[in-house]
Amino acid sequence: MSVQHVAVVGAGPSGLAAALMLARQGRRVTLFERFDEARPVGAGFMLQPTGLAVLDDLGLTPAVAALGQPLNHIFGREARRGRVVLDIRYSDLNRPRQALGVHRAALFHVLHQACVAEGVEIVTAREMVAAGEGRLTDAAGHETPAFDLVIDASGARSRIAAALGPGPRPLRFGALWATVPWPGAPFDETALEQVYRAADKMVGVLPVGARPGSPDRLATFFWSLKADDHPAWLDAGLDAWKGEALSLWPEIEPALDALTDPDQLTLASYGHHTLIRPVADRLAVIGDAAHSTSPQLGQGVNMGLLDAHALTEALATHADLGDALAAYARVRRWHLRLYQALSFGFTPFYQADGRFLPWVRDHILGKVARLPFAPRLLAATVSGLLLDPRRR
Ligand SMILES: Cc1cc2nc3c(=O)[nH]c(=O)nc-3n(C[C@H](O)[C@H](O)[C@H](O)COP(=O)(O)OP(=O)(O)OC[C@H]3O[C@@H](n4cnc5c(N)ncnc54)[C@H](O)[C@@H]3O)c2cc1C
Repeated sequence: MSVQHVAVVGAGPSGLAAALMLARQGRRVTLFERFDEARPVGAGFMLQPTGLAVLDDLGLTPAVAALGQPLNHIFGREARRGRVVLDIRYSDLNRPRQALGVHRAALFHVLHQACVAEGVEIVTAREMVAAGEGRLTDAAGHETPAFDLVIDASGARSRIAAALGPGPRPLRFGALWATVPWPGAPFDETALEQVYRAADKMVGVLPVGARPGSPDRLATFFWSLKADDHPAWLDAGLDAWKGEALSLWPEIEPALDALTDPDQLTLASYGHHTLIRPVADRLAVIGDAAHSTSPQLGQGVNMGLLDAHALTEALATHADLGDALAAYARVRRWHLRLYQALSFGFTPFYQADGRFLPWVRDHILGKVARLPFAPRLLAATVSGLLLDPRRR
């Protein structure tokens, strides 16, 4: 069956990238988004080299890089003694490519504009809840005509993907996130910096460049918090929290000064799941809808872009839709499973109760990370290069 008209559900990075790639293959694409106006949701993030390679193929890296901030360094230390426990440099890979800190609005803006230019039909205010035989059903119970293929990119809480397997299992820790003006020195604008106390407190500053249409340099600020503790955090008030945060990392004062209302900090809760088979009859699931995890390894957007690339490549190289969907699932399987396992395994060293795992992190992992082979391996890991599906 030839795939001419494709429905994509969700205008996040995965859905927009897939829609654009399909439109450039000459297919008709209709993109459904639940919001009245498609818009970016959530915090800034790190775009890793493997995800940037997908943007290279789309010719969009210069536009995204013009708004983003090149990052060479991920640096973490524990608060009490200042012991360095995470020190990853992309330059250890001896490749020209670094990571890019990006405000979510910047990637959205570039992908959305490219979709519009390529003739993708964007239908807003349609919340899709089910897919079957190429048809979509919205929250009001209305059914669309049949598409040749439906791509579900509606994020971790997808109701469409829920028919293919269990959804995310909630993780105890999430984080409060905010966008603040770039705090300046002594912060390094080429580094993601984090400070930990045991593993129940983590504060971080990620340079993310600028929003479209504004020259102001920004940072994403985050503070680890259990979703269950959010009401107590609100009750305690901003000043009490700022005092605690400053005791961990006094230099963040300029970032905290920009936070005057608790509503500026959005609570993100995390979950973890991986669909064993992200495809069904005339249906492919990509991005967080197929696999979600904590953002500790900074791979989510990367994985969604790689999914979009693998799926559209499979459609271009297989005449039969069933073969193409099977090829997509096959190409992504091991890379995804490896990174989902790494995220699941490493997150408790940075976000958990108890003293044992942070002790191992501070006294053993920190030392292992300084062994001769380790810096390159760590840089390759965060770059998304282990089992790189684009090489296979
Ligand atoms: C706080 C935080 C920090 C993160 N940091 C990083 C990082 O540094 N690096 C990184 O790579 N990743 C990071 N991630 C993960 C990353 O944000 C996600 O992996 C990525 O956004 C997934 O993209 P997506 O397009 O698959 O889904 P989403 O971004 O969730 O987009 C889904 C889209 O679908 C729409 N939608 C939802 N339901 C429906 C429906 N029923 N019908 C129609 N439309 C619908 C939504 O409105 C949205 O537009 C972070 C995540 C969080 C929460």
